[in-house]
Amino acid sequence: MNNQNQNNNKGNRKMPRMNFTWIYIVIAIGLGYLFFAGGDADSSNAASKSVTYTVFKQYVELGYANKIVANKDDGSVRMYVKPERIRDVFKVGVEQTGKQPFVQAEYPSADKLDEFISAQQELGNFKGELSYKRSNDTFMQVFWNIFPLLLIVFVWIFIMRRMGGGGGVGGMGSIFNVGRSRAQLVEKGGENESKITFKDVAGQASAKQEVQEIVEFLKNPQKFTDLGGKIPKGALLVGPPGTGKTLLAKAVAGEADVPFFSMSGSDFVEMFVGVGASRVRDLFRQAKEKAPCIIFIDEIDAVGRARGNNAMMGGNDERESTLNQLLTEMDGFGTNSGVIIMAATNRADILDKALLRAGRFDRQIHVDLPDLNERKEVFKVHLKPIKIDSSLDIDLLARQTPGFSGADIANVCNEAALIAARHGKQSVGKEDFIAAVDRIVGGLEKKTKVMTEEEKRTIALHEAGHATISWNLQYANPLIKVTIVPRGRALGAAWYLPEERQITTKEQMLDEMCATLGGRAAEELFTGHISSGAMNDLERVTKQAYGMIAYMGMSDSLPNLCYYNQNEYAWQRPYSEATAKEIDEEVKRMIAEQYERAKKLLLEKREGHAALADLLVEREVIYAEDVEKIFGKRPWVSRTEELLDMENESQPAEEPTEQQPEQQPEENES
Ligand code: ADP
Repeated sequence: MNNQNQNNNKGNRKMPRMNFTWIYIVIAIGLGYLFFAGGDADSSNAASKSVTYTVFKQYVELGYANKIVANKDDGSVRMYVKPERIRDVFKVGVEQTGKQPFVQAEYPSADKLDEFISAQQELGNFKGELSYKRSNDTFMQVFWNIFPLLLIVFVWIFIMRRMGGGGGVGGMGSIFNVGRSRAQLVEKGGENESKITFKDVAGQASAKQEVQEIVEFLKNPQKFTDLGGKIPKGALLVGPPGTGKTLLAKAVAGEADVPFFSMSGSDFVEMFVGVGASRVRDLFRQAKEKAPCIIFIDEIDAVGRARGNNAMMGGNDERESTLNQLLTEMDGFGTNSGVIIMAATNRADILDKALLRAGRFDRQIHVDLPDLNERKEVFKVHLKPIKIDSSLDIDLLARQTPGFSGADIANVCNEAALIAARHGKQSVGKEDFIAAVDRIVGGLEKKTKVMTEEEKRTIALHEAGHATISWNLQYANPLIKVTIVPRGRALGAAWYLPEERQITTKEQMLDEMCATLGGRAAEELFTGHISSGAMNDLERVTKQAYGMIAYMGMSDSLPNLCYYNQNEYAWQRPYSEATAKEIDEEVKRMIAEQYERAKKLLLEKREGHAALADLLVEREVIYAEDVEKIFGKRPWVSRTEELLDMENESQPAEEPTEQQPEQQPEENES
């Protein structure tokens, strides 16, 4: 049973459930009735015979008529033959003709027929009365008149039902309930009781604490109101996709002993104007009935997008009226009514300001990508159902997955299990996890891609260029692995361990830019040609340079200026033509400078680069140790290593972390 029915149980109990099947049955019966009852029951299986009017008159004069019925519609008259005369008229007995056989004729006019029958009655040839009746087909005629109309109505209903969106079990539900909210109700002891608790949410300590407080508000409001505090009305979970926002909300449902209405922002949206607003009203009405309770709206940006700044494309009235209704409803109930609204989005920046103000979503809870330790926690949660072998080191996994969200980690665990199963293993080992991470980051390895020696050499030179430069620049991301095995769309890749920095300096960005340009620089220097393989690098570099200059104020001629425009529909640039030109110039200059720097460095390290490229052609995959052998140890300590050292010092019991080649999401397409 779907929840909509469950929620509307009160209404449904009184009214018998309307169901399309029943309507079809009623229509079928109606049609059957029209066909059969509408027909002439008397004559349904009796013999008949068409004759001329003259013959008809003769029969009547001979006194054969039992009953005469004229039909004014088609100008015919029927004479039902007396049982004893049946043999005279039909030449066969009653057994063959049925009880009421008749002869039928066309009569010239009603007057003439009347006159003739009266005369015969006077003469005593006909004892009955002449009666008139409507055509047998009347019902059918009426039917055919209204049939097209019926057809249109049913087609319309059918389409409505389809548009109503997966009306499914509720039968007629969608047409009549289009304005009802589609919230899913999770209740203790209910059908879809949430089994998720805070234990299932790994990491996210601060977010967890905040939502735990919400559970507390609902369980024990007195504690807060006694001191004069007000219970918050709403909390907004903000964070990148897959970080566990929905999971947190489900955990709240599991922990709080109150009903939990869950729906997605897009559930409000419908083809009809006004439906969204009416669904919002309905949702809040239901929630108030069940208070104290929680309403959870996932992906609230579907309705909560800022209003009215889409001047070029025209407003979206339906969405705006839905949002207005939401705002009104959130203002409409008192702070202590016991309904708390939680919403999740990964795009808080596009939400309407009115929605975010205190008194509506008072709290914004940030759910960020997990850091090293949190990733470890998430791995522990998701490794539980997996049969792992002793070779697995969770620390190592956590270190190899920077930038991964909780959902990515769940995916890694699953993928690793699948890979192990494919190889017919009994348990999932370290190499399966490493393969899974590689696969998720870079796509599937394509060992079968055909390449000439020449192409292979070019790719090796390109990747060695990235590797050489990133190894020899202080702030470039530490390298982990370089490969020329095609994977996904990339022909080769250099994998880095991007540092999980809180802030990035200009020097760091420039060093990274230089390393990214190293691929093309190496191609130009050592093959004499430049190739299409660097397109992905160039795209990244260009975007980064524009970002640095126009948004971060990092250029010399346009210092400390940010032209960032939050308005997503802004077609106008917030700067003049002259500035636009200057930005372009600066971008060109910055990239050219870094390119020259890359070339210079490559020339300085040309022997090392060549050795690296040879090794790549030979082995296809090389690791940080190989690069270290060629260039020597990097004299700088990376931030991640620094952090790890700090952590290890504080936890001396922990095993020394393996210094092992790692694959990372940062990848340079060749
Ligand atoms: P979103 O933030 O996009 O709503 P979800 O809550 O739907 O993300 O997370 C998707 C999946 O990722 C969850 O079902 C869970 O398996 C996994 N996941 C995400 N974050 C965590 C976490 N902190 N702890 C455990 N699992 C997590």
